Amino acid sequence: MSSEATEVPAGTSLADRVTKPDESKTAESVPIPNTESSVDGASEGMLGSQLQEPDYQVNVKLSDLQADPSNPLFSVKSFDQLGLDERILKGLLAMNFRKPSKVQERALPLLMSNPPKNLIGQSQSGTGKTAAFTLNVLSRLDLSTEQARRTPQALILAPTRELARQITGVISLMGQFVDGLVVGTSVPTEIATRPKLLEVSVVVGTPGTVLEQIRRKVLNPTNIKVLVLDEADNMMDQQGLGDQCLRVRKFLPSTVQVVLFSATFPDHVLSYAHTFAPNANEITLQHEELTVEGIKQLYIDCNSEQQKFDCLVNLYGTLTVGSSIIFVATRASAEMIEKRMTSEGHAVACLTGNIEGARRDTVIDAFRVGAAKVLITTNVLARGIDVSTVSLVINYDVPELYIEQNGQSRRTRQPDLQTYLHRIGRTGRFGRVGVAITLVSNREEWQLMKGIQDHFGVEIASLEISDWDETAHFLKKVIKSSRAASDFAGGQI
Ligand code: ADP
Ligand code: MG
Repeated sequence: MSSEATEVPAGTSLADRVTKPDESKTAESVPIPNTESSVDGASEGMLGSQLQEPDYQVNVKLSDLQADPSNPLFSVKSFDQLGLDERILKGLLAMNFRKPSKVQERALPLLMSNPPKNLIGQSQSGTGKTAAFTLNVLSRLDLSTEQARRTPQALILAPTRELARQITGVISLMGQFVDGLVVGTSVPTEIATRPKLLEVSVVVGTPGTVLEQIRRKVLNPTNIKVLVLDEADNMMDQQGLGDQCLRVRKFLPSTVQVVLFSATFPDHVLSYAHTFAPNANEITLQHEELTVEGIKQLYIDCNSEQQKFDCLVNLYGTLTVGSSIIFVATRASAEMIEKRMTSEGHAVACLTGNIEGARRDTVIDAFRVGAAKVLITTNVLARGIDVSTVSLVINYDVPELYIEQNGQSRRTRQPDLQTYLHRIGRTGRFGRVGVAITLVSNREEWQLMKGIQDHFGVEIASLEISDWDETAHFLKKVIKSSRAASDFAGGQI
């Protein structure tokens, strides 16, 4: 959540306040008077530390939330009681992690016990799954000899390059006081370089690249003790990624500890997860438990596709918001909306799967530091991305399941329940408050949204747009309020 100090004066439109690249230095050099801010999921190299916000509101609220037993951020223990090494505790302190969340508190004893056991861990978006697996990984590393340090001992797989880079950042930050720790990222590169032996203790990568590096013998898999699949259900559910994960697994020692994490494990994936991680301990949730309280879910009833675009323009014309993500169904519509928003005078960034890797890195890094405040993207960024300043997520399209037919991707007119949850989970991170708005333009889309609503047992309330100033005022209030659940029961505006 952005707070007062980062907000621009009321009445300034989003288009006005998007920081242009040449202004970004000034914007970043504004002194931030808070030492107790939370740390984002990006390393200093990725400018993560600059994401520290003056978050006194959030801190107060966080301690409230962490004292509430029904909240996923609640824990009875402190990090010191979890048997972590001093140097790791120091890293947590530097990141201002004061208390573990529920998933951290429950998963860590299961993960760190010996002999190691596999784990399938489920917890709501933004509740700190990364730290849960990272603390186990760091605890299991043997960095006593030069040889040990230079041979991979843990492998973390993630579905996208952005997530892999983010996890590298978190591990490096959390392990900043662990002597000899080197973390490597294995993601596709366009520049043809001679393959070089990965002399690192932890590798984070996407399955295809990791598999290729193992095959080319630049990644030595023989000493890997821990294999983590982040967004595990997503990787197992996609034929290509699932196959690659399985192949990677076959190169690893049979004793490897397999750790699967996600906010969602639909039934059909869970059974496969059991074969991938045999005899695993399990932390699972019911689907009614999956929504995050701090994310206010709304929809706008648009009359037509055209009105959807008008809605966007109106929203961004009247609303002052921290950072936001607009999710669309296809790369083509992402590009189209990027063009149209740009021509309307809005500064937006766009990231899709057909953009080359280096450019993707530039775009996401600009978004992380707030140099770009509006990001238009596809499901490629629906999962895992942790940018705490995101206070608004827009579903330009209701996420739908697709099937491949004759080489063509076709809509099934069934809601993609998991993707909806992950998309909206890009806001409301670790106790913050955010708004998720889904645009529906016809009866079919409304039905899809209704399906999502029923499945998760939530109400997605209608957002009134007859007076945009009022709409903006209402949204601002919701975004700013610390626990706004009671403010708009039934969608009253
Ligand atoms: P998830 O993977 O469950 O969606 P992340 O691991 O990305 O969530 O964590 C979400 C945010 O919460 C991150 O910005 C992270 O730094 C922060 N976070 C995680 N654990 C703690 C903690 N114990 N105390 C404070 N902040 C935390
Ligand atoms: Mg995550």
